Amino acid sequence: MIVSCETIFGGEMATRKMLFVFDFDQTIINCNIDVWIRRLLPNGKVPKQIKDRYKEHDSWTQYMADIFSHLHSSGIHKSEILDSIAEVPFTPGMVELLKYQQTAPSIDTIIASDANSLFISHILESADLQGAYQEIFSNPAEFDEAGCIGINHYHKHECQRCPVNLCKATVLKAYLQKKSQIDPVVYDTVAFVGDGTNDFCPCLSLGENDLIFARKGYRLMEEIEQCMSVRPDCTANCKRIKATVIPWDDAFQILHYVQEIYSSKTDKAN
Ligand SMILES: [Zn+2]
Repeated sequence: MIVSCETIFGGEMATRKMLFVFDFDQTIINCNIDVWIRRLLPNGKVPKQIKDRYKEHDSWTQYMADIFSHLHSSGIHKSEILDSIAEVPFTPGMVELLKYQQTAPSIDTIIASDANSLFISHILESADLQGAYQEIFSNPAEFDEAGCIGINHYHKHECQRCPVNLCKATVLKAYLQKKSQIDPVVYDTVAFVGDGTNDFCPCLSLGENDLIFARKGYRLMEEIEQCMSVRPDCTANCKRIKATVIPWDDAFQILHYVQEIYSSKTDKAN
């Protein structure tokens, strides 16, 4: 089912604990950080040998490792990299949404991204958002002593649909299991906010009580529409989307939705 942000508003989920799972590129920030960083390369261009190597290994993580190595060998200092990524634009409304969710005790927030942990945490800390999420799940990256960024795959997984370094559905499943066993917390509703092809896999894992905030005009929305309309009787090759799909243009629309939940909750309490 696809509904607008307006028609889904209601109080039924007001008392439920929710988990928000955010993608990062083109979702929390309004660009792709791996593309943004290329502006620091000499002439702003990726050398041909790095592109050629990418065609051979077909690993985005290895491609970014080569980019980082080239930045370092070109004399780009750690501080230049950090200063540059601190300037990336946030998607309109996203800072407001994350700060609002930080104040809502019934909402937990995690980030699952194919970027890297170093950039994500630095960008969020630069915007004073370090308290707005519980965990980041992304390719681990850090500066070595010489000032070169090293990056690794987030994990190994068995999903055939996702890139070798990260399956967000596997991440989500493990997180839900951990929270149910350790804290214990059960999320009645999981809301996934994303835009890209690698956000489709976790969306397939969501149930009827869950929400998919798919950014309009991006690949995730296209994949969902194709799955729901072109292949309505999809079988094992394409499980149907069970969660409610809510397309969005900017995060103020998502914020409005979350605020409706909480105003409804207050009304019921009174
Ligand atoms: Zn997957």
